[in-house]
Amino acid sequence: MEPSVSLTRQALETLDREDPLASFREEFMLPDGLIYLDGNSLGAMPKTARARIDEVVSQEWGHDLITSWNKNDWFDLSLRLGTKIARLIGANDDEVVVSDSTGINLYKVLCMALALRPDRNVILMEDSNFPTDNYVAQGLVRQLGRGQEVRFASRETIIDHITSDVAVLALTQVHYKTGAVFDMDEITRRAHEAGALACWDLCHSAGAIAVDLGRARADFAVGCGYKFLNGGPGAPAFLYVAKRHQGKAQQPLSGWWGHADPFAFERDYRPTKDIRQLQSGTQPILSLAALECGLDIMGRADMALLRTKSMALGASFKALMDAHCAEFGFTLTSPQRAEDRASQIAYTHPHGYAIMQALIAQDVIGDFRAPDILRFGFTPLYTRYQDMWNAVMAIKAVMTEQSWKLPQYATRTKVT
Ligand SMILES: *Cc1c(COP(=O)(O)O)cnc(C)c1O
Repeated sequence: MEPSVSLTRQALETLDREDPLASFREEFMLPDGLIYLDGNSLGAMPKTARARIDEVVSQEWGHDLITSWNKNDWFDLSLRLGTKIARLIGANDDEVVVSDSTGINLYKVLCMALALRPDRNVILMEDSNFPTDNYVAQGLVRQLGRGQEVRFASRETIIDHITSDVAVLALTQVHYKTGAVFDMDEITRRAHEAGALACWDLCHSAGAIAVDLGRARADFAVGCGYKFLNGGPGAPAFLYVAKRHQGKAQQPLSGWWGHADPFAFERDYRPTKDIRQLQSGTQPILSLAALECGLDIMGRADMALLRTKSMALGASFKALMDAHCAEFGFTLTSPQRAEDRASQIAYTHPHGYAIMQALIAQDVIGDFRAPDILRFGFTPLYTRYQDMWNAVMAIKAVMTEQSWKLPQYATRTKVT
């Protein structure tokens, strides 16, 4: 059902006052006056992170030193965080672990998937996916060099490409540019029907929409910690391996943390059969500590309320754009209906880059994705309804005053 939209500043402010999630905003560092619509790229900082990092640095590292691996439970920290993420994505506690980056985790699970389907040689992916996933898969098949290939298909036709040589269908559930959501249950079912496995990248799903890997019977999943989970820049990522596959195939980066008995220091690798096998080596404790702060906030939020609010935010933004910015040449590239989008909306504009720079200069932060996309993320934990009004009014001002034409907005920075 489409959420009802509000089109006046007053009505939006009323929605903020009535918002059951409003108090979560207080838990994040957000500079006064800043409208942050980029939580889908780097989530805001939980206020608890500063004290927690200070405690880990001063006490656990500074004072307890190496005894912290036992005393402060550092050794199992990535598993503990895995259980917190498992509850957000419909997995069992022993099916998720936090480690490494999304790309590295994808490498590990795709390698396992190929091993579980030895008579098949294709990794099927979406051609307009976030490129690192494609690059990693290409690197993997190059490395294996046994005739495996990455095959691409368009979003619209992907299901028709699950032929009998496909070992694994590896898709990102929510498209990074448009926010369009794949039907995970249905596509996983179709993959299984064709004898393939299904691996889901949850980078723009975890913490943004309700995910139920168990219900979908997904085989593998990966996702990142620094977007909607608010784990901090470069936060460690997570991965999921369905219990039925654990111990059945080996991940390729077989380091000592995945060994059955790491402190026996045996010469040869002997994999543990549980989710710990997916870890390769010593985990980044400071980063894990920061990520836990984000997860603990998310763990208290009701996902149904989050989803309702994120749809209402997106619908209001879109309606305000229709009402106030129709003449400026923006084209919606996201799905029309709120229920078909996750927590972001995107428009194309031929001057997208300069327009976004001009907006950022006015303290409205979204991001630009080449070649011409302006992307706005709505993190329901800390984005307000009134931010929708203020952001669209800033866009209108940038367009009417043509401030985007200023020369300083034309030069591309290293990171867009
Ligand atoms: C953000 C994102 C990543 C991030 O990958 P890193 O390995 O953390 O750099 C990967 N895949 C998708 C789909 C993403 O949106």
